[in-house]
Amino acid sequence: MEFLRWCSALGLVALAQATVLAQAETAPSLATLLAEQRLIDLTHPFDQKTVYWPTEDGFQLIRGPAGFTEKGYYYAANRFCAAEHGGTHVDAPIHFFQGRQTVDQIPLERLVGEAVLIDVTEACNANRDYQIGVQDLRRWEERHGRQLVDVIVLLRTGHGRHWNDRARYLGTNKTGPEAVADLHFPGLAPEAARWLVEHRAIKSIGIDTPSIDYGQSRDFQTHVTLFEHNVPAFENVANLDRLPEVGFTVVALPMKIGGGSGGPLRIIALQPK
Ligand SMILES: [Zn+2]
Repeated sequence: MEFLRWCSALGLVALAQATVLAQAETAPSLATLLAEQRLIDLTHPFDQKTVYWPTEDGFQLIRGPAGFTEKGYYYAANRFCAAEHGGTHVDAPIHFFQGRQTVDQIPLERLVGEAVLIDVTEACNANRDYQIGVQDLRRWEERHGRQLVDVIVLLRTGHGRHWNDRARYLGTNKTGPEAVADLHFPGLAPEAARWLVEHRAIKSIGIDTPSIDYGQSRDFQTHVTLFEHNVPAFENVANLDRLPEVGFTVVALPMKIGGGSGGPLRIIALQPK
């Protein structure tokens, strides 16, 4: 900048302009930066095995035509039917707080950006009903010398490795309303959610379990607290064991269901190669 001021002071406008152009040319384009990233899929597939809440039906793919038409080209088209909340999905704030954002109203800025991973696998291995507390979040902050501000936070409980075993993943193989009492998996403690919204400013939060509240929750206060503050939650996030604690970006784009309380989510991470 000093150089530019010096150029204009001397009337060397052309030189100043050339310098600005040169700077613009040397800045790497987003396409260049993208080519240098490894893409990691954090999404479970939607199929017959996809885990849904015990009170919901599973994902249904209704097969349509698949074959060669009379005109000679191949044509395949199916239909699907699914609850908003199941598999890898987003909870929009309206899911637990009246008057807050629906899924189509979540600002894109909350869904895309720098992300961090908080690993609590050890504590969750020892206790499948573990609730991630303020001390876990602060420990991450102390280790990395920064606060949880303006980032997407992903919570790795290690529970995601049970995805293909529904009974272990949910804590029960039962379905229907009576199954809810038997749910066992880790989650974020309500006090930690309160601390995040009152003392920090995160964009959104994700977890490798069926719910941001732990399985034994009866009043879902973590959901309520986050959503009152319009912080969306990603649930059933996959492949968190493939991420470092820092140094990656997340793109989490849900189906844009008008007025929806959540929806299927395609979430990916970008990590420098
Ligand atoms: Zn949900």
